[in-house]
Amino acid sequence: MSFEYIRTIPSSEHLKALLPLSSAGAAMQQEKVQEIKAILSGQDPRLILIIGPCSADNEFAVLEYATRLAKVQEKVAEKIMIVPRVYTNKPRTTGEGYKGMLHQPDPNAKPNAFEGIKAIRRMHIRVLTETGFVTADEMLYPSNYAFLDDILGYVAIGARSVENQEHRLTCSGLDVPVGMKNGTSGDLSVMFNAIKAAQCSHDFIYRNWEISTTGNPFAHAVLRGGLEHNSGRSIPNYHYEDLQHTAEAYAEKGFENPAIIVDSNHNNSGKHFDQQPRIISEVLHSMRYDSLVAKMVKGFMVESYLVDGAQKIGPNQMFGQSITDPCLGWEATEAMIYDIADKL
Ligand code: PEP
Ligand code: MN
Repeated sequence: MSFEYIRTIPSSEHLKALLPLSSAGAAMQQEKVQEIKAILSGQDPRLILIIGPCSADNEFAVLEYATRLAKVQEKVAEKIMIVPRVYTNKPRTTGEGYKGMLHQPDPNAKPNAFEGIKAIRRMHIRVLTETGFVTADEMLYPSNYAFLDDILGYVAIGARSVENQEHRLTCSGLDVPVGMKNGTSGDLSVMFNAIKAAQCSHDFIYRNWEISTTGNPFAHAVLRGGLEHNSGRSIPNYHYEDLQHTAEAYAEKGFENPAIIVDSNHNNSGKHFDQQPRIISEVLHSMRYDSLVAKMVKGFMVESYLVDGAQKIGPNQMFGQSITDPCLGWEATEAMIYDIADKL
């Protein structure tokens, strides 16, 4: 066997005992999850804005970002519910590069998942208890959900994982809303099949247990555009006709709580991060022309951080600039959120 076994990772019980969530934090998580569910089910007319860096690479920058967001949230609370992206494990197209705080709590040091697992729990707890936001993260490794299952308010399944049975079945047991992205090629059937799988009950093996789930009625769609692999061209799926087509196809399937979140970065922007405000404006405009689209689009996902763009990992890294996908900087982010609220 050529694995080198480095250290054992603490159990989720051990980690939770080491870094407990306060009862006030637990109550806040429950309350905010109910709010997200009310928006997705149409009982609450606000939109959800899942917003934050591509990767939450630095606890202090993430806290600074979330603290700024909290002030904006107060001003738009009647129209928008903000859920910070605190993404701690990153899927990589070729497996190379920074894989998130889970693996590398210090991007400039060697991987250390033993410390990483503590670092991500501490960061999520701090955002929840110090800024009052429930957080979103990507589920890259389904079994790791147990380390954060009392904290997270929203889980995304990325474009590279959405076809995977283990991800889909695990989502069927989650108590929080799960966004299923369309596949990297833009394939919508992969996303719809994932929603179906997650909304049904399943019996399977999870973390050394034979388990049974009840199905997650809040599994829904996230449109992130697609990539034409031969030409390398991004094919957006946020335009009017795309939304109409997706909403109609979605309605025919008869799923519970049909909801679309539009991701304004990735292959919708072609990673032109500064286009995100325009893309969202266009979607808000489209919602005025089609009642089904208006009903189903429940919010947006935005990649945003303190500083515009992205940088390479290195000794002189800029505080609050992405080290993975390029993000919209703070000034443009703040202006964009007020603009969305004005348009609603
Ligand atoms: C992301 O949200 O940063 C991400 C990796 O998204 P996707 O799975 O859509 O590429
Ligand atoms: Mn990204």
